[in-house]
Amino acid sequence: MPSPFEKLQRYIHLESERGYDNRAVVGGLDKIIPWWEPEARISAISEETLQKILERLRNYPKADVNERQRLVIELEKLLEGPAKLPRPERHPNKPPQNKPAPQSDRPKRPENMTRSERAERPAVQQTRPAQPPVQRPQPLLQNNFAPVPPPTNEALNQGLKAPVTVLQGIGPSNAKTLAALGLRTLDDLLHYYPRRYDDYSKMKPINRLSPGEVVTILAAVKRIDNRSLHGGKREITEAILDDGTGALRATWFNQPWLSSRLPVGTQIVLSGKVEMYLGRLVMNSPEWEYLEQEHLHTNRIVPVYGLTAGISQKQLRKAIYQVASFWAPRHQDYLPASILESGKLMPLSTALSQIHFPENQTKLDAARERLAFDEIFLLQMGVLSQKRSWQAAVGQVFVAPEDWLNEIQAQLPFELTGSQKRALEEIKTDLASGKPMERLLQGDVGSGKTIIAALAMAIVAQAGAQSAIMAPTSILAEQHYRSLLKLLSSDEPLPGKPFRPSEIRMLIGDTSAAEREEILNGLANGQVKILVGTHALIEDPVTFQRLQLAVVDEQHRFGVAQRAALRNKGENPHLLVMTATPIPRSLALTVYGDLDLTVLNEMPAGRMPVETHILLPLERERGYQLIRSQLKAGHQAFIIYPLVEKGEREDESKAAVEEHARLQSEVFPHHVIGLLHGRLSPEEKDAVMKRFRDHEIDILVSTSVVEVGVDVPNATVMLIESANRFGLAQLHQFRGRVGRGDAQSYCLLIPETDESIENERLKAMVETNDGFILAERDLQQRGPGEFLGTRQAGFTELQMATLTDVRLIEKARQLAQLLFTQDPDLIQLQNQALKAEVARFWGNGRGDVS
Ligand code: ADP
Ligand code: MG
Repeated sequence: MPSPFEKLQRYIHLESERGYDNRAVVGGLDKIIPWWEPEARISAISEETLQKILERLRNYPKADVNERQRLVIELEKLLEGPAKLPRPERHPNKPPQNKPAPQSDRPKRPENMTRSERAERPAVQQTRPAQPPVQRPQPLLQNNFAPVPPPTNEALNQGLKAPVTVLQGIGPSNAKTLAALGLRTLDDLLHYYPRRYDDYSKMKPINRLSPGEVVTILAAVKRIDNRSLHGGKREITEAILDDGTGALRATWFNQPWLSSRLPVGTQIVLSGKVEMYLGRLVMNSPEWEYLEQEHLHTNRIVPVYGLTAGISQKQLRKAIYQVASFWAPRHQDYLPASILESGKLMPLSTALSQIHFPENQTKLDAARERLAFDEIFLLQMGVLSQKRSWQAAVGQVFVAPEDWLNEIQAQLPFELTGSQKRALEEIKTDLASGKPMERLLQGDVGSGKTIIAALAMAIVAQAGAQSAIMAPTSILAEQHYRSLLKLLSSDEPLPGKPFRPSEIRMLIGDTSAAEREEILNGLANGQVKILVGTHALIEDPVTFQRLQLAVVDEQHRFGVAQRAALRNKGENPHLLVMTATPIPRSLALTVYGDLDLTVLNEMPAGRMPVETHILLPLERERGYQLIRSQLKAGHQAFIIYPLVEKGEREDESKAAVEEHARLQSEVFPHHVIGLLHGRLSPEEKDAVMKRFRDHEIDILVSTSVVEVGVDVPNATVMLIESANRFGLAQLHQFRGRVGRGDAQSYCLLIPETDESIENERLKAMVETNDGFILAERDLQQRGPGEFLGTRQAGFTELQMATLTDVRLIEKARQLAQLLFTQDPDLIQLQNQALKAEVARFWGNGRGDVS
């Protein structure tokens, strides 16, 4: 947030722009003294300079224009020094050094846990001592805000673990709302980073405004009244604001109480976008605050947080401000000085302040960089120690007789591709190595990963041990179950079909109690050799006699903890994780540092490439025509929209929900159209997907949640609306939903506009069918839509870091590696705080990572 000095610089700059009329601040420049002086005092400024500044401020109103100009120049000089000063770092109550955490614990990354839940764990109590700061706190972020009320005694006693209700303005009902966002403690709030920012730091006199600008003005209310619109349905409050250089109209909807809160003469700060209406300047629904009040929502780079119903942006911002202003400066930096230095990183306390209430863009960037660095760094430290302990473990040796394996391959309805054969060889080597396999099998959609997993499981089952494959949805589990039965089993023993159907079973949420019982028995006595399922198979009652191979399909859909839970069902089992997320190799090595990598870079022969076309919005009907003719031929189609419901940017995007209704009534009245979006529960989504698979639905309208990996070979058209909003890698994933059968398939991309530059990017989709090339292009461009996002790649722990930031990832990885070689167990004194933080980041359970 701006320091008092930067703030004053802005006021006097505004004065000079206005020709020194002493009206930049309503009431006169000296009116800022009462709040400005205390703020300036707690910053690093000499008493002498402070007095000089105050004297000039006091003289300013009495001075004539020439003199004012001189005063402004003098003030500018006086402010030059202090404005550039770094914030004083204040650690009045540095927590004591932490005790080293026990070394034997394997790190486990917690997924789906809020910070406070992680904080329940013992490691945290070491990291975050509950000792309260003893002295009376002062507001530590330098700004022009009114001083923050100091936390209550209760809050101090509990430190960052205190519940959000200790904050002013957060009662039990707000707390419940915040809990829905995973925000239970002060610590959660401190680490709930803004989704975006509104930059209201530009301040201007009204006569200098031009339409389209986002600015802040200081003005007085000259007139204000309420009117009803639409027969009383909406109420509009209209104010005329005057700053002496000109007047501006501001309007607000359905906030009639504003007219009493802003009586004529009130001095306010107003931030928003300037627009032109009937030849006059207006601001619609601007943010406003009283001039003499703290400026949280105007006049700065304002943080915008992800919200949920029941809490407003302003409320949340205020709550977070209370936490950030008090606790951020007191946050201990766990990174050793050497890392901070070589990484050129902002101190953590500063970063935590700046990420919420940035002083300027540069500091915001630095804060973001610091927090993103930490995520990758902590991830990497855990991955490295994981890799080490994993490598020390002993793995069961499995070697399948060559003839036996060849027989199975001979029975397959196809021949393995070259890269499938290579992958199989690597896996055979791993299984025979005596160490647990830890392999990532990465292959584009349709490259044939399942069969590789099936063969690996067969090798393990042949030796009498058990395997499990976990898929993210029951529809995918069913798909795997069917193919495994088909590929590996027969009722009678046959060469190449070595297993009985009873040895391959499926366990999903829907499995009946009786069948579940039978499966659990079969697993416990070793009769079931291969288990297919959803996360249902990591639940408690499921115990294996001898689980030796764990396979995770579509690994990015699972949390690390879930993967670990599956692996923990056995004793150091081999692990194979599979993904279609086309992360370029360099990046995969960084992010999956603990896994060996196999890439399937070859498509099965005979696949007909999907024909891809870009249609301009005006040509949409042609797309519908193609869909009609494909439906007529008995096929099915997907139509994808970017957002669930008309939201903030309502004019820009098609909404799946509304478009579904329109398509059904106006475009395809004679066909069954299904709808899939993020607000459906997993069961509902699954049910819709199944109806589509079984051809009860002709056209599936969906947002980007459409299931990965689902095989509906009868679908031949993938139409994507607002295609320019998606990254190439993601478009490619959508395209992979079609072209899975024998018929020619089509992918139609409809951008929002016919603007050629935007759409140039989409041409790559027409030019290549190679997901890796497209992912590389995404990476290079890091274009408007950044799509190799962390969520997609399955790193739910990463809030700030995006996997496209290769430079940052490389830096964090290198520094983590360097530190790991110097002090792998983090036993050195200067690394104790870091050690505790690594444990906290990864949780401190007995599990491990995959
Ligand atoms: P993914 O890698 O996307 O998981 P799948 O394993 O689902 O791909 O395979 C996609 C389809 O390709 C399946 O129908 C599968 O039977 C088929 N397939 C796999 N390998 C080959 C191959 N070598 N030749 C022909 N078809 C294959
Ligand atoms: Mg698959």
